[in-house]
Amino acid sequence: IKILAIESSCDETSAAVIANGKILNNIVATQSVHEKYGGVVPELASRAHQQHLIPVVHEALSSSGVCKEELSAVAFTRGPGLMGALMVGVSFAKSFAYALDIPLIEVNHMQAHILAHFIDEPKPSFPFICLTVSGGHTQLVLVKDHLAMEVIGETLDDAVGEAFDKTAKLLGLPYPGGPMVDKYAKEGDPNAFRFPLSEMPSLNYSFSGIKTAVLYFLRDQLKEDDKFIEKNLKDICASIQHTLIKMLVQKLKKAARQYKVRDIAIAGGVSANSGLRNTLEELAKELKWNIYIPKFEYCTDNAAMIAMAAHYKFLNKDFCGLDVSPMAKMKIS
Ligand code: ATP
Ligand code: MG
Ligand code: FE
Repeated sequence: IKILAIESSCDETSAAVIANGKILNNIVATQSVHEKYGGVVPELASRAHQQHLIPVVHEALSSSGVCKEELSAVAFTRGPGLMGALMVGVSFAKSFAYALDIPLIEVNHMQAHILAHFIDEPKPSFPFICLTVSGGHTQLVLVKDHLAMEVIGETLDDAVGEAFDKTAKLLGLPYPGGPMVDKYAKEGDPNAFRFPLSEMPSLNYSFSGIKTAVLYFLRDQLKEDDKFIEKNLKDICASIQHTLIKMLVQKLKKAARQYKVRDIAIAGGVSANSGLRNTLEELAKELKWNIYIPKFEYCTDNAAMIAMAAHYKFLNKDFCGLDVSPMAKMKIS
């Protein structure tokens, strides 16, 4: 079984080839046009996907040594994501499947983030809980099988990646600010400043409050000292990061208890955060959890995870028709 997979949901254009469940490569073109705008501009993302997609697919095929006539299927991200960006990948995949007369496989991007855990060893065993933390989502997912997943908690407003990026912006850091906050936080005091923890019922999250809290905090401090940010950048970053991680972990612990699960995974771009990784490793010791963190390359958007999901769908003969359309909002199964 050889499958070509395409990812184009946001600002990464990516293609990968998988053969019998083994990832052969993962070609990613990251769009730089958005940097000067401090966030992803949807229309520019679509145009950049149009420019990058064919070269990226070409490289994925040639570097894997698989020619298109050998492909058993072509897979693509159907959603969730930016409509115009998804449209580019969907249209390409449809034409490709039609021209080669091979099956077409639609993949849910959030399910794929979780299935990135099945690319390399060690693989989590079922059932496990995955905390998916990215630029657009924050979800606690009970994973019962490769394709049987249930969202047991999620954010009711901003995603945690968004909270990292928006607070970083208030500090004058360039987009995306998450990795910068992480970098400065390493040398700061996490208890230097206190920001409120949101209290949500059940297993849901809310991250919009911290943005406002940081905004007012900085406004007040800057009134006293206009160099406040420069002087305290490391401590502010460490304190914000500490608050966000505390919120993430509180619900994760609650979910693990409630569902009696000890296999815990994290997925999505924010799982690159070193503070979150360290906290999870400490918790693993304390609570006897087995934790799973994918390789960095498979944490952020990539087509390898789409290919992995497509492999399992191929085994189930779960194909879609040429009339399929992208979905900006899409639920996990
Ligand atoms: P989604 O998957 O929900 O559609 P997305 O694909 O844009 O959203 P990802 O690419 O998975 O999201 O992740 C990007 C996010 O991860 C950004 O918000 C970025 O700031 C954040 N991020 C990346 N590295 C780190 C880090 N080391 N610390 C904190 N946040 C980080
Ligand atoms: Mg991205
Ligand atoms: Fe993503």
